[in-house]
Amino acid sequence: MCFVTDSPSPTSDKSFAELGLSQVLQASVAEAGYESPTPIQAQAIPPILEGQDLLGIARTGSGKTAGFTLPMLERLAGKRARARMPRALILEPTRELAAQVEESLATHGKRHRLTYALIIGGTSMQEQQDRLQKGVDILVATPGRLLDLFGRGQVLLADTKFFVIDEADRMLDMGFIPDIEKITRLLPRARQTLLFSATLPQEIRSLANSFLRTPVEVSVDAPSSATTSVAQRFERVGVRERMARLEDLLNDDSVVSALIFCNRKTEVRDLVRSLRRYGHHDLDELHGNLTQPERMEALRRFRKHEVRILVCSDVAARGLDIPQVSHVFNWDLPYSGDDYVHRIGRTGRAGRTGVSVSFVGDDDEKRLADIVKVLPQESRDEVNRLIEVLTQEAETRDDYRPFERGLSGGGRRDRRTGGYGNRRNAQSDDGRDGRGNGGRDGGGNGGRGGKQGGKARVKKPYQSHGKARSRRSNRSDASTPQTDDKGDTGGLPAFLRNPPKR
Ligand code: AMP
Repeated sequence: MCFVTDSPSPTSDKSFAELGLSQVLQASVAEAGYESPTPIQAQAIPPILEGQDLLGIARTGSGKTAGFTLPMLERLAGKRARARMPRALILEPTRELAAQVEESLATHGKRHRLTYALIIGGTSMQEQQDRLQKGVDILVATPGRLLDLFGRGQVLLADTKFFVIDEADRMLDMGFIPDIEKITRLLPRARQTLLFSATLPQEIRSLANSFLRTPVEVSVDAPSSATTSVAQRFERVGVRERMARLEDLLNDDSVVSALIFCNRKTEVRDLVRSLRRYGHHDLDELHGNLTQPERMEALRRFRKHEVRILVCSDVAARGLDIPQVSHVFNWDLPYSGDDYVHRIGRTGRAGRTGVSVSFVGDDDEKRLADIVKVLPQESRDEVNRLIEVLTQEAETRDDYRPFERGLSGGGRRDRRTGGYGNRRNAQSDDGRDGRGNGGRDGGGNGGRGGKQGGKARVKKPYQSHGKARSRRSNRSDASTPQTDDKGDTGGLPAFLRNPPKR
C-alpha cells in the first residue's frame, strides 16, 4: 500500500481586480465564492484580456474554465452576434464538459447581455438551429455536431474571432484532431486562439505550433503528473476479496461522495447490481450505454448529493467538475498513467483534498508500471516494490510474457478482463464512451459515423499513428453493441453477482 498526502494547490497573491477584470465580473466571481484567482487564472487572464494567443497547461480542478470564460466574457461584452454567425467558439471533447462550460458562462456572464448555445449530440438539432438563427455570441460545442450543423448550412464560422480548444489531449485521444483541423480552417485567420490541455505530449505541442500565433505559454503543473491534493493509495486485493474490501471502504463515514471507476461498461452495470444486492441503494451508474438524458440525470443526482456513490466508466474521468467528491475508487486499475491522472483528478479539486484507493490485482504490474511514472516522486519507491513483487510472482506462472516497462503493447493476457494489457484494448470503454459522448452523434442525429471509411488521410506531424489507428478502429464500430467475452454478466465473477446471505 502506498500513501501520499500533499497540500492543495495555492491560490494567487493577486486579486481579480489586479488581473484586469471589470467590476461587473469581479462581482460575479465574488458571488460564486471565489476569493482570489487560482494560479492558472492569474497567469492566463491578463494575456487573454490583451488579445494574445495562449497555450495553457493545467491539471483538472485548477480553475482553468473560469481562466478562459472570464476574460472571454470581458472581451466579447458590448457587441452583438448576427444570425448563424457566432463570435466565439469553445470546443469540448464531451457533451458533459460542454454543458459544464456553458454553465460557467451562464454563471459568470449573467450580468452581460451575451447569448450562448450548447451544440452537442444527443439533443434536439432543431432547437439548436432555432437558437443559432436568433444569433448567438458564444457557441460551446463538440466537434461532430458542430460539423453536422455547418454541413447543413446552419452555422457560419467566418465571424468567429475567439476560439478555444479545451482538453486538447483528450481530443487527441478521442481522434478528434482531424475535425478540429477542419473547423479551424472555417475560422477567420485574424482571431484569438486559446488551447488548454492537461498534458503536453508532442502531438499537442505540434498542434499548438500550427494553430496558435506566438502564444503565451502558461503552466501550473508538471505535465502528466497526478494531482498532489489527493492522498493516493494502492491496495493489492485479490478478485475474491475485492467486493468485501470495497464495502468496507464505502461504509467508512469519511466517504461523503464517491466515484468508483471500472474499465468496462458491463462491469459498471454488474458492480451496481452487486452493490444494490449488498444493500447499497444510494448509488447510480454512468457509462456510454446510457442515453444522453440518462447520463445528465445521473450526473445531476450525484452533483446534488441525491446519491452518494456513482459507479462509472472513463466517461466520467476527464474534466468533469463535481464539487466535493471525497473519494475516487479504482475498482480496476486504468490502462494508462494518463487515465489514472484524470480519474483521481475528480477529487481534491479547487483547494480541497481527496482520497483515492486503487485496487491492484495479480496481473496489474504493467498498468502499475505506467501509473508509477505519474505519481509524486516520494511515493514511487513503494509502488515500484509492489511492481517487483507482482512481476516476480508472474514469472512463476505458465502464461508469463515479459513486458518492457515504459513501452506500450506486449502485455500478458489479463485474466480478469480476458484481454491484453494494451492501452486501447478492444473491450475498453474509453474510446466508445468518448465518441458517444462527444462529437460523433451517431446515426440518430444525422451523424457522421460512416465517415471514417472514406479517403485516406494525409499524415500530419501531430498524429501518433499507432494510437491514431486504434482510435479510428474504435470509432468505426460506434454502433456495434459491446461484446464481452464473459457474456452479458461482464467482468464480475459469479460470487460477486450473488452475494452471500447475511
Ligand atoms: P475547473 O478546473 O475549471 O474545472 O474548476 C474546478 C472548480 O474550481 C470549479 O468548481 C470552479 O467553480 C472552482 N473555481 C474556479 N476558480 C476558482 C477560484 N478562483 N476560487 C475558488 N474556486 C474556483
